[in-house]
Amino acid sequence: MALRENGGMHDIQLTERGWALPGIANLHSHAFQRAMAGMAERQGDPNDSFWTWRETMYAMAARFTPELLRAVAAQLYVEMLEAGYTSVCEFHYLHHRPDGGFHDDRAAMSQALIEAARATGIRLTLLPVLYMSGGFDGRALSERQRRFGHSVEDYLRLLEGLRAQENASLNIGCALHSLRAVPEGAVREVLAALPQGSRIHIHIAEQMAEVEDSIAVRGARPVRWLLDHADVDARWTLVHATHLDDGEVRGIAGSGATVAICTTTEGNLGDGLFPLRDYLDAGGRWGVGSDSHISVSPVEELRWLEYGQRLRAQRRNIASSAAMPSVGETLLHGAWQSAAASTGFDVIDEVVLDADAPVLIGATREDVADRWLFAGNRDAVKDVHVAGHHVVINGRHIAHDAALVDYRRAITTLLAG
Ligand SMILES: [Zn+2]
Repeated sequence: MALRENGGMHDIQLTERGWALPGIANLHSHAFQRAMAGMAERQGDPNDSFWTWRETMYAMAARFTPELLRAVAAQLYVEMLEAGYTSVCEFHYLHHRPDGGFHDDRAAMSQALIEAARATGIRLTLLPVLYMSGGFDGRALSERQRRFGHSVEDYLRLLEGLRAQENASLNIGCALHSLRAVPEGAVREVLAALPQGSRIHIHIAEQMAEVEDSIAVRGARPVRWLLDHADVDARWTLVHATHLDDGEVRGIAGSGATVAICTTTEGNLGDGLFPLRDYLDAGGRWGVGSDSHISVSPVEELRWLEYGQRLRAQRRNIASSAAMPSVGETLLHGAWQSAAASTGFDVIDEVVLDADAPVLIGATREDVADRWLFAGNRDAVKDVHVAGHHVVINGRHIAHDAALVDYRRAITTLLAG
């Protein structure tokens, strides 16, 4: 199953240490949301939806300081590495103080994420988010959204300051929160000011209400509008892109952009199902993200990506082809092939699966990917190496205990309100 791309090898091989394979890139993360995972699963309103969940999320967001964010992000990154993610795209909009004022160091919250990544060894593509309005009609940010906001000028200054810290494990990209939160003129202005090759991520078409508002105000579905008004190409990652018509499926695939599918979060929020089979047929590029961190596991993201399609189509083995009949291989190759374009890191880090894990006993190169992704719930990740550092040893991150101590303290503070 070897495929050579970008000078690296995407393959699974049996070594004396176990089954070695490239790590998985996590294309979409809001680190602070790890602290509320599992806390919005009680009915508040018979019509609970993404929009009522968002209120719970805003209440939690309001309590975060840079110190708390650093502790929550470090715990999250430990969990990601232990699960086999070796890089993460952090879609970061929690910029300011709860009252909307700047921190003394305006980049303090970004800095907290950078420090958490450095302390745990995960590669970080930090995507500071531009968030300007509360809806497609350009209305001002609500009180709860004010701490997410920037003018274009302040935003570009933030990016420039952060770029000075870029290194082999830190890439600074750009995120537009969504078309509802960034007016047309600002989209143009920011895109024109970005350095060449800068990665651009955007939330898009996650909810039907967003599609309807876009049609009402901009006269087009959100993905259609973006394809028609921006040079969408391989630098772009479209997050969710759940609600697509056939033309949009072909349009994204033809552009070379990546779709970041956040299976477990989309399931948790009741967003809808990404049209995976049509998108694969169109040759589209895609990867996965853990987004709200209701689950921190590439196994679960990929497994449920396939299961959602099976439930809808009422048949089996959707992500597969005559050339690559294994669903597990097809899913892993999809995630591997989009990683460099979406994260900006053209490197391969290594994950080693325990060849003696019960689900992998007797595995062969032909079935090891399927067994890892589809069988059982005990993670087989044994060792993880990122940028030459051995960060997970025998299933445990080297900072596992220290991160947990800080996390426990942070959650106690957050829950005390
Ligand atoms: Zn998101």
